[in-house]
Amino acid sequence: MSDLEKDPAEVVCDGSDGGGPTLELLEPREVVLGRTTTVRRLLPNKNRRMVGAWCFVDHYGPDDLTSRVDSYDVPGERGMRVPPHPHTSLQTVSWLFEGEIEHRDSVGSHAFVRPGELNIMTAGNGIAHSEVSTPTAPPVLHGAQLWVALPDSVRTTVAPAFNAYADLPSLELDGASGTVMIGTVAGVTSPAPAYSALVGADITIEPGRTLSLPLTVSNEYAVLIVDGSLSVGELTPGFGEMAYLGGGRRSVELVASGNGVRFLLLGGEPFEEHLVMWWNFIGRSHGEIVAARDAWQAAILANGNDRFDMVPGYDGDPLPAPPLPAIALKPRPRSR
Ligand code: MN
Repeated sequence: MSDLEKDPAEVVCDGSDGGGPTLELLEPREVVLGRTTTVRRLLPNKNRRMVGAWCFVDHYGPDDLTSRVDSYDVPGERGMRVPPHPHTSLQTVSWLFEGEIEHRDSVGSHAFVRPGELNIMTAGNGIAHSEVSTPTAPPVLHGAQLWVALPDSVRTTVAPAFNAYADLPSLELDGASGTVMIGTVAGVTSPAPAYSALVGADITIEPGRTLSLPLTVSNEYAVLIVDGSLSVGELTPGFGEMAYLGGGRRSVELVASGNGVRFLLLGGEPFEEHLVMWWNFIGRSHGEIVAARDAWQAAILANGNDRFDMVPGYDGDPLPAPPLPAIALKPRPRSR
């Protein structure tokens, strides 16, 4: 797709695949989790699986959970209940716009995920966690569940960990403001741990204003609209849609609609390693996924093992892995 911006920013192309500026609209795909919880999946998308090391983006809500239960729920219980389940070779980022979720994990963490606060869990070779709506949570839940692929150099050796940041640095820009979740945006840097050049921010542009957002030339970027709409070049992504901007940009002009816009900025250095993603696992081969699944199933029976501990304080059974597909899973590149 060509760059049709009227006043394109100066660009530097590094010649690698996807290194230059582009504009692609990525539409969400509705995915039903359990029986009744519907999320909108932006990544992996049909032709683009990653933006930087961001490899999984689910956007959900705003949903009023008052009268709804999902299939994992105890009958009569309000909201969401995701029992303990495992992860490998990735970080999970939980980001809320509204509502509250209670997090527990197998390294002993117990935390409440709240709007504007970053909760990042590093799986390393294996971790398990649970996510549950609290009885006292506000009724409306709106958020994003994101995964970051860990590079091969650290993915099995970094210690499993959970970090929470309630006081992230603020962005104050001309016509816009926001919060830097991870990495550096416009010279403002988050303290959250990253293992590749990675950027995440939650930005609001005032109604009708244009934000000239400085970018890092060596990164690729995308914006996910969570309220209102904006124009970028010839694209006008609305609620729940993502615009992929490519890389090689020193800046980008984002024009808010008359009602303003709120969006997540996601970016990073293009991630060149090919991944196998299946269920909650990331690996580099089919055999690794089989081994992770076997270890989790064994951990459930043994109440924890040397790869996956159980989640202390969670009242209920862990989530068993689904059956493996009949065909071998293949490693995939970040784009097609
Ligand atoms: Mn999870």
